[in-house]
Amino acid sequence: MDEWFYEGSVDSHTHLSIYESKGVDPQQVLERAARTPGAAIIDVGIVPEDLDERRRRFSHGETVHFSSGLHPTSVGEEWREQIKTLEGQLEADSGIVAIGELGLDFYHSDSFATQQAEALHIQFSLAMKHALPVIIHNRSSEEQMMQHLSSFGGRGVMHCFSQDADYCRRCLDQGMDISFGGNLSYKRSDAIRDAARMVPDDRLLVETDAPYLPPQPARGRPNSSALMHYTIETLAEVRSTSVEHIVRITGENARRLFGL
Ligand SMILES: [Zn+2]
Repeated sequence: MDEWFYEGSVDSHTHLSIYESKGVDPQQVLERAARTPGAAIIDVGIVPEDLDERRRRFSHGETVHFSSGLHPTSVGEEWREQIKTLEGQLEADSGIVAIGELGLDFYHSDSFATQQAEALHIQFSLAMKHALPVIIHNRSSEEQMMQHLSSFGGRGVMHCFSQDADYCRRCLDQGMDISFGGNLSYKRSDAIRDAARMVPDDRLLVETDAPYLPPQPARGRPNSSALMHYTIETLAEVRSTSVEHIVRITGENARRLFGL
């Protein structure tokens, strides 16, 4: 089978609590990761209120780490209450390694555009206050995001980077690290591959965003952390380097950013 982990690799972005709805057993994936020396997974929140349940179900020694945050497409009528929940978690020092995912998403609709921006702004402030990195979702909102980033000044990662090399340069200049996912290997992703070529070694991360965005060789199946090796291999090919090098630098960078 093609489900396995490179030793020391870190999936900087996955959603374990959504695996089952796509037919993937998260526990099987976690067992496999735990058997691989140094392999780690960041389980990323899309609403703050399920953090306790995620920890209960998916805590697995040093293999799994958790973030909490309010995703832009989760911003609705209740968003202020949800941010309060996040604040409570941060005050209680719940051991999360990042705030996220947070961001802007005007792809499907911009009906909550103002609230998305407000929620983003507050979560940026919380990240500064608690000295945590942010995990940024950015879809059909490139220029607005750049404006927010220019006043942020903290640490973080552009998750599932899907823009071009020029935009990548601007994100790097704002101090953000860059993470690539399965869409790096899609046929039409030349611009994303150009971006992947120009990220410095010490700013590069890799992820799955599973169960979404399976890499090209696994398309048509649900994605999981155990398929990230394909994206590592694509990164090595695109950057004309070895798989071992990509595993090492992306692992080191993720460990440094998230303080693992
Ligand atoms: Zn995500």
